[in-house]
Amino acid sequence: MDRHAFVLMEGKPVRAKIYDDLKSRVTELAREGITPKLATMVVGDDPASLAYVRGKGKSAARLGIDSDQVNLAEGTSQEEIISRIDTWNADSGIHGILVQLPLPHGYDEPAILENISLTKDVDGFHKANMGALAMKGMEPLFAPCTPRGIMEMLRFYNINIQGKEAVVLGRSNIVGIPMALLLMHANATVTIAHSRTADLPAVCRRADILVAAVGRAEFVRADMVKEGAVVVDVGINRREGRLVGDVAFEEVKHKAAAVSPVPGGVGPLTVAMLMSNLVEAAERTVA
Ligand code: NDP
Repeated sequence: MDRHAFVLMEGKPVRAKIYDDLKSRVTELAREGITPKLATMVVGDDPASLAYVRGKGKSAARLGIDSDQVNLAEGTSQEEIISRIDTWNADSGIHGILVQLPLPHGYDEPAILENISLTKDVDGFHKANMGALAMKGMEPLFAPCTPRGIMEMLRFYNINIQGKEAVVLGRSNIVGIPMALLLMHANATVTIAHSRTADLPAVCRRADILVAAVGRAEFVRADMVKEGAVVVDVGINRREGRLVGDVAFEEVKHKAAAVSPVPGGVGPLTVAMLMSNLVEAAERTVA
C-alpha cells in the first residue's frame, strides 16, 4: 500500500540549478573584469584531502573560476602556514581561501583558521562567522557549505521547515552545529543529538526532519525514524570499497517520505555551495 509518495532527494538536480545561477553571475563578474579565484591549501598527503581539493579545482574550472593550490608537507610550521594565509589575504586577486580540513595531528586548527580574512572565509569556519551565525539578528558573511547545501536541497524539494521538529544527529563545527542553527533560523524547533544523548532512538523518532551527521555507517535504522519524516544523510563512510551513508537507506526508505541517497545526495552540494560562497565573495568586491 502506498502510504505517501516517496521522494529521493538527489543532489545533482539541485547542483545543476545552483551552477546555472553561478555561471551567469560569473559572466556578469567578467564584464567587470573580475574572475573569482579560490586559493586552497593542503597540508600533508592524505589521499582523501587531496581528492577533495582536486574536485574543488575541477568544479571551479567548469564554472570559469580560477583556483590556486598549495601543498605543504606535513611538519610545515604553523607560522609558515599562517604566513601563506597572510599573503593570500593581501592579494586582491584572491577572493576565497580554503584550508583543507582536517589538518594533520598537532596543528591548532582554530588558531590557523582565524587568520583567514573574514571576507575570504568561504568555508565559513572562522569563529566570527560562526559566532554571527549563532546570533539572532546577525548575518555571517559566509555559512558552512555542507549545511548551506542541505538548506538548498530542502528548498529544492519543497520541504516545509517552519514549525517542524528537526533533529540534527552530530554536533561538529563543520556540519552539526551550523546545520542546527540554519534550521533554527528557518523556524524549525531544533534538537541536537550526540554521543551522550539519552535514548537517542526516541529523540530521533520525534523528528519531522532528521539530519544524520555521525560518521557511522547505517547508524540510523528504520526504528529511529518517524513515519513520513524527511531524512538527510550527510555521512560518508567507506565499507568494503564502497560509500555508505549514516542512514540504513534500504529500510528507512519504506518509512520516510524523503531520503537523500549516499552517494549522490548531499555530497555534490558541498562543493557547489563553496563555489556559491566564492562568487559571493567576488561580487562583494564590486558592490
Ligand atoms: P565528527 O566526527 O566531527 O562528528 C560526529 C558527531 O556524531 C559528533 O558530534 C558525535 O558526538 C556524534 N556521534 C558519533 N557517534 C555517535 C553515536 N554513537 N551516537 C550519537 N552520536 C554520535 O563528524 P563530521 O560532522 O565532520 O561528519 C559527519 C559525517 O558527515 C562523516 O561521515 C563525514 O564524512 C560526513 N561529511 C560529509 C560531508 C559532505 O559533503 N557530504 C561534509 C562533511 C562531513 P560527540 O560530539 O558526542 O562525540
